Amino acid sequence: MLSRRELFPHVLEMNYQARRRLGCSVYLVFDELDWMLIDIGFEDTVSEIVDMIRQLDFPLANCRYLIATHADVDHVQGLKKAKELLPSAETLAHPAAAKALADGDRILTYAEIAAQGIAIDMPAIQIDRQIGEGDVLELGGLKLDVWQTPGHTESQLAFRQGNLLFSGDNIYRDSCVGNIDAHHGSDIPAFIKSLQRIRDSDVEWLLPSHGPVFRKDNAILDAAMRRLDRYQHMADFGTCAVDWPLLDEWDEELAEGIDPTAE
Ligand SMILES: [Zn+2]
Repeated sequence: MLSRRELFPHVLEMNYQARRRLGCSVYLVFDELDWMLIDIGFEDTVSEIVDMIRQLDFPLANCRYLIATHADVDHVQGLKKAKELLPSAETLAHPAAAKALADGDRILTYAEIAAQGIAIDMPAIQIDRQIGEGDVLELGGLKLDVWQTPGHTESQLAFRQGNLLFSGDNIYRDSCVGNIDAHHGSDIPAFIKSLQRIRDSDVEWLLPSHGPVFRKDNAILDAAMRRLDRYQHMADFGTCAVDWPLLDEWDEELAEGIDPTAE
């Protein structure tokens, strides 16, 4: 038997439990006899995680939900295997993530980034129930509110439970955010709105999908929003930018016939 290292009442995180980095954050939420997992990570760590859960004295038959915060391979590659080991659990994801998972979409999930020579397995899986904004998950006597927080990708979900927010890839402790990529459906204006929502909420703790848990600090969120606000107007972000002011300047200079070499 292992002793439970609860981060907060009702909440464990499997990297924290193991005291070493296994992959993305894998949160185990429990109440009474029921428990659930928020993300599962790569397939090759599933057995170890499920074994740890068994040793923490959570009956495997009482797993109610296996949740995908979104459909990135580092969060969901192990979902099919986890469902095989935990057949009583219902798999839950946003409709866009459910589609990517059912299709085994290799681009949207980042299983394949041909230009970087990245190609890994992405086992397809049918999601049992599609969830989104306003849904409430019940677990024992706990209630988790589902927040749809698009930006990193359309399907990004966050889950509020009391003063905690399982915040996915929205924001990390160093103020970095989940990566911004056109092929991933990233949307910078939507991302800023999601961060604003988190900022304006009265949650006290953010439980991200990568890196340590941290107290919600508006300075961290403001710094991210300021960066993203600039990104919206920068060529660096390609088709994710909403405009590029230099092109307007260029239009004017071309119309005026300005000579760049004239002093
Ligand atoms: Zn991630």
